[in-house]
Amino acid sequence: MSKRVIFRRLACASKPCPEFGYWEFANQREYLDHAKRVREWRCLRHDHPEKVLSLENPRREWISEPAARSERFPDLPDLFFGSHGFLHGDGYYAYAKDFPAGTRIRVTAEVLLPNPTPTPEPKETRS
Ligand SMILES: [Zn+2]
Repeated sequence: MSKRVIFRRLACASKPCPEFGYWEFANQREYLDHAKRVREWRCLRHDHPEKVLSLENPRREWISEPAARSERFPDLPDLFFGSHGFLHGDGYYAYAKDFPAGTRIRVTAEVLLPNPTPTPEPKETRS
């Protein structure tokens, strides 16, 4: 017998935003716990508007913490970018231990708009 999945959908609390958040829960307990913790939800456009790429904000840059020994696990010999020994995203992977201490990673996202579509020449008509 398959388990019944419980779904939850919340509209962004910044009205009249059209975005919705969707969650999936394996049981009623998880659903109720989430409902107790998350009473209101905001989409990324309203929670972190500065991070959302747009025509007015077409480029973002993030720079990691310098590679250093872990503060949380000081006995580990490897280096960490902040709390991460490994960073990744679309198009790259980086192990902090592969670089000298103090190395930072810069991640850039930039919108590359298509070239303007040339307006088609009007068709020649003969009468
Ligand atoms: Zn929103």
